[in-house]
Amino acid sequence: MTMDTKPIPKINEDSRPFWEGCKAHELRFQKCNKCGHVRWPPAIICPECHAKDTTWITAAGHGRVYTYVVYHVAYHPGFKGELPYVVAIVELPEGPRIFTNIIGCGTDEVYCDMEVEVVWDDVTVELTLPKFRPVR
Ligand code: ZN
Repeated sequence: MTMDTKPIPKINEDSRPFWEGCKAHELRFQKCNKCGHVRWPPAIICPECHAKDTTWITAAGHGRVYTYVVYHVAYHPGFKGELPYVVAIVELPEGPRIFTNIIGCGTDEVYCDMEVEVVWDDVTVELTLPKFRPVR
């Protein structure tokens, strides 16, 4: 990896079903079979009730911008060509809030509570990233 290559997520056994879902263009999350909590990031136990029994569900793929920032500085050289860009936390109706990028609009058009939908960035054959764009 050169310094200009973007860092990529480290996939482990807990998160593999999420990343395989992304490759299939599906947002998958663990839902606790005991209390119903839908969690992110993936974990071996439920953070609410500590149960291990879980089912992977597929989220609808829409949500709202919970909060965001516009990056004008590249803190890693791999992101230099993307400036300025939006890093956001999107809240999904299923429960999770996930870190992502808002694309498909100007950085000055993003606002909190904006309705967004998932769009898939097929980075490599092995890695697809969920990003979000405004619902028009
Ligand atoms: Zn639980």
